[in-house]
Amino acid sequence: MKRFVCLLLALALLPGCQRREDTARQSLFCMDTVMDLQVWGADAQAAAGDLAALLNDLQDQWNACDEESLIGALNQGTAQPDPQQQRLLGRVEELSRRTGGAFDPHLHSVSACWGFPTGDYRVPTREELAEALKEDDWDLGAALKGYAGDRCVELLKGYDVDRAILDLGGNIQTWGEKPDGTPWQIGIRDPRGEGLLGTVSVRGTMAVVTSGDYQRYFEADGKRYHHILDPKTGYPADSGLSAVTVICADGLTADALSTALFVLGLEAGTRLWQESGDFEAVFVLTTGEVFATEGAALSGCDYEVICRED
Ligand code: AMP
Ligand code: MG
Repeated sequence: MKRFVCLLLALALLPGCQRREDTARQSLFCMDTVMDLQVWGADAQAAAGDLAALLNDLQDQWNACDEESLIGALNQGTAQPDPQQQRLLGRVEELSRRTGGAFDPHLHSVSACWGFPTGDYRVPTREELAEALKEDDWDLGAALKGYAGDRCVELLKGYDVDRAILDLGGNIQTWGEKPDGTPWQIGIRDPRGEGLLGTVSVRGTMAVVTSGDYQRYFEADGKRYHHILDPKTGYPADSGLSAVTVICADGLTADALSTALFVLGLEAGTRLWQESGDFEAVFVLTTGEVFATEGAALSGCDYEVICRED
């Protein structure tokens, strides 16, 4: 009996028999932003490397500024998307319809008029914007990181990993549960300060995506021109918001909706939430006031709760 117990102990201590939990952390510059990938589990190293490769691959396909990319070729009419790419484009069009066009994946020419894709910022004339609005070239900049989060989750399912938190440049994608059973705490940046406005708690696989007027902007004549454009006018959306965070199990939806809600503003954004059942949202007004939908699980700041029956 004693020998049997010793044998069991020895087996338990053998490296091959014990399940190790490795941690991998990888930073990369991708999709014009710094990304930080953290993965836990036996396959953490391999998974993190393959996540980085996947993200770089998606960037190479969908960079609207690169004429050689798939999206560049689509915009020149010289390429056909494969079935997976076609599915993405179809879903993006569907999200545009769902938001009444507030999320518009065809604003590349309009964005280019302002110099947002290149950093050569300038205020275009009304005529230039009117011409650019007639173009319908693809720009998935408002949805790609969210879609990338979904694709990362798909990839992680094929590995022996326990959990991951992926910061895709402000788009946070979680996967799995923390070992102590507590939810992930995701900080939301204060749009007018350096620190955090508050935190939202999420469990399992979830995307927490923020669109804000502080993420990319320039100033001219004392005015701030930011990168989230109103598809009706071509001008930066002026809806009274400085940031919107969307919490949703689907990353692509979260990303498209964060941009759309920013364009729609608090009132129309609240209506969209009330007629939906798949996301929660935090709205930060330019006045600094904060509103959060009842399931948003926001803490760390004062805010007004938006209810279903409002
Ligand atoms: P996001 O940070 O996800 O809100 O995406 C903003 C980026 O999406 C911009 O830099 C543009 O490339 C593009 N964009 C700007 N306005 C819109 C809009 N109304 N709908 C869809 N994409 C937009
Ligand atoms: Mg977005």
